[in-house]
Amino acid sequence: MTMLLTVLFCLSATAQVKFDDYFSDKTICLDYYNSGDSANCVASFEGLRTYKGWIGRRLNLDSCPSTSDMKIVITDNATGRTIYQDSYSTLRCEWQLTNNLTWSGIYQESVRIPLPTHPSTITLIRTYKSGRHETCLQISFNPKRYKFAQRKYPKKQYPVENLLRASKSGVNSIDIVFLPEGYKADEMDKFLAVARKMAEGLFEYEPYARYKDFFNFKAVLAPSPESGIDIPSEGIERNTLMDFTYDTFDSERYIGTRNHWAISELASNTTWSHAIVLVNNEKYGGGGIYNFYSVFPGGNPYILELFVHEFGHAFANLPDEYAEPDNPIGQKEESDRDCIMKALDMRFFCDECKGKVEKVIRMNIGQ
Ligand SMILES: [Zn+2]
Repeated sequence: MTMLLTVLFCLSATAQVKFDDYFSDKTICLDYYNSGDSANCVASFEGLRTYKGWIGRRLNLDSCPSTSDMKIVITDNATGRTIYQDSYSTLRCEWQLTNNLTWSGIYQESVRIPLPTHPSTITLIRTYKSGRHETCLQISFNPKRYKFAQRKYPKKQYPVENLLRASKSGVNSIDIVFLPEGYKADEMDKFLAVARKMAEGLFEYEPYARYKDFFNFKAVLAPSPESGIDIPSEGIERNTLMDFTYDTFDSERYIGTRNHWAISELASNTTWSHAIVLVNNEKYGGGGIYNFYSVFPGGNPYILELFVHEFGHAFANLPDEYAEPDNPIGQKEESDRDCIMKALDMRFFCDECKGKVEKVIRMNIGQ
């Protein structure tokens, strides 16, 4: 029995990719353009931005906490081994489901990975619900010869305020950064007050409450030239940092942007694993895309409930549990469970959602 256990232990030890064998403690932000039609995804490489520190997973590197529309895979060229993978979705992936309700356009998207120390291949794969997989970008990465693709990052530096610090040290934390959109320089206190309320409010919900010690919350104090954001259906246009707008895909309350680079750019003023954008508006709305961004109207009275709901999409890939059959990207059927993913006045998660959130937290903190 002892021998068998030893053998099994050795097998599982070999199976685990060790972070230090393949990566250095730096982050690459890979910027690309995403375009194509409703059936295809065409990604064009723009550049790599590197910065100090890797805030993501250091264990379970070759498996994803949850699976969504896009996958990024790093393989080691010498061995062909998958040394890292992660999954996320994007606003353009959602557009592909809208049956061309609105024009496609070109989307600026970023994805962050740890910096490989050996020649590697980085592949972006679009996975469709039908099971079809499409390789939309493949880059051969040589850590000694990538300077040509490097961009200065961030271009402009802003002050960063710590809102809540993880009290557990020596472990992987989950770093959440708030970004202001449409708040002018003299409105930063207004932005910070809402961000603080949200950071504390998340821990009124399980399973976040149990893991509060592992979360950092910060805010980048980046003022926009104008106050408020675009609301095309009301003829309102504002000059803001990340180009967020209401009426995304002709849905009045859907706030979105095709400029994901601007989010990565602002967030990289600090280490971050998730970006939360507050738009300076009271009008009801928001959005949350898995491992990409989440966005909320800072002045809305339901901000806390909206946050917990939309961050459920962005952090743990939770689906909506209410039915919206006429919306091409909405759920077709309502769940039979009570949950904040079904209605904002249900101020708790169902057991299924709790399990998914906890899985993502534990994989990220290495438990
Ligand atoms: Zn639920």
